Amino acid sequence: MTEQAEIRNNLTRLEDSISAACRAANRPRAEVELVAVSKTHPAAAIVEAVGLRLHIFGENRVQEFAAKSAELPPDVRRQMRVHLIGHLQSNKAAKAVEVFDALDTLDSLKLAERLNEAALSLGKRMPVLLEIKLSHEESKAGIVPDSAELAELLERLPSLSNLDAQGLMTIAPLDVPEDETRACFRNLRLLRDRISAAHPRLNLPVLSMGMSGDFALAIAEGATRIRVGTALFGRREYPA
Ligand SMILES: *Cc1c(COP(=O)(O)O)cnc(C)c1O
Repeated sequence: MTEQAEIRNNLTRLEDSISAACRAANRPRAEVELVAVSKTHPAAAIVEAVGLRLHIFGENRVQEFAAKSAELPPDVRRQMRVHLIGHLQSNKAAKAVEVFDALDTLDSLKLAERLNEAALSLGKRMPVLLEIKLSHEESKAGIVPDSAELAELLERLPSLSNLDAQGLMTIAPLDVPEDETRACFRNLRLLRDRISAAHPRLNLPVLSMGMSGDFALAIAEGATRIRVGTALFGRREYPA
């Protein structure tokens, strides 16, 4: 199969599953945006995906996407929005604001301040999601729900006027029983509801949660954005 045919087949199957999950949750399909996670895949795969009417992409490394971006035809790049979904070090904030359309992994006040400055100097308003750590795994990134860091960031966000905070993002723990995964997604939604009640100046409609292995559970718990790589582009090959 050509790469294009493979992505097309995968997308058909994926769309069926997303629609089924929406029906089961009594939610309109239009409430759930699909982020095509193209990390490790070549620019050509992105071009194919845009040809299949996918418009939102997720990449996890600044340098990797900067290189790919240079290979994308300008008319393709104009048709897509690319979100950084990997951890960002604050010293790379300026580059990230330059190459990405949104950052889904805001995880500190320091990073928020750097991003705001970078966005200001580029004349941009950067959409951001706050990444929340709801898993006890040491490896997981994100801000801890009841931390001072989160409280301070929420206080500061309304005055960082070149950032547009739109919602929350989380990564569920891998290889745990389904009810634990579900609880993690539910907790993100409940946290968003609590934050919204306490901070009426923030409007946080977006819940980015769910990946290839668990997006149906995330949709059941209110995801408005799912991030799917493997089920769309196939397995990732990492260099040794
Ligand atoms: C890689 C990645 C995904 C996609 O994972 P799949 O299991 O391949 O769908 C989603 N979210 C984040 C943050 C990722 O790093």
